[in-house]
Amino acid sequence: MGHFDEKYLADGLELCRRLIECKALEIIDGERLKHLARGGIVGFKCADGKYAGDIADHIRCFTDEPHFLSLNGTALLLLPDMEEFAEDRRVLYKHAREAWAELKKGTTIVPLTHFPCGKAHKHDISLVANLLRTYDAAADIARELGVDRRVVVPMIHIHWNVIETTNGNPYKHCRTYKIKISCNTEAPRLWQQLTQAA
Ligand SMILES: [Zn+2]
Repeated sequence: MGHFDEKYLADGLELCRRLIECKALEIIDGERLKHLARGGIVGFKCADGKYAGDIADHIRCFTDEPHFLSLNGTALLLLPDMEEFAEDRRVLYKHAREAWAELKKGTTIVPLTHFPCGKAHKHDISLVANLLRTYDAAADIARELGVDRRVVVPMIHIHWNVIETTNGNPYKHCRTYKIKISCNTEAPRLWQQLTQAA
């Protein structure tokens, strides 16, 4: 889903690189996540067929029991501020509550966005907004499901190989990152730096 021009992709991936450099995005600590998700993972994940398999494979490294809720752009639909997503939000939380009630202790909840995402592109949600929405969705999920915020881990899956020039880069095989709180300040700041320099 979605067609992206080269500049959109190149700028987005460059922002991701800079966010990783300043540790606002952090490679998932596999052992830590495995422990945290020992009861399984409920993932709010985009349905995008082009990338969904790749994302699911990665999450399966951490748990044998990933329970995915998937609509177009899923993690982006959770905040109550966009009227056009209100119905999707209601449905997602209905299913999330149902899943949560059935799952074991030690289950981690992952709002998992990705870049590039056709749904974000379609609704003019910039990469910065995508990151911040996903981070804020973690608090929203904790509130809605009545769980501790610490069991909700916001993540982004970055498709490094979407353009030729990123092939062979060192991130290629480690592509899911935790979105840290510093993204809230670093993402807008670095994006401004990046676009002003261009
Ligand atoms: Zn998507």
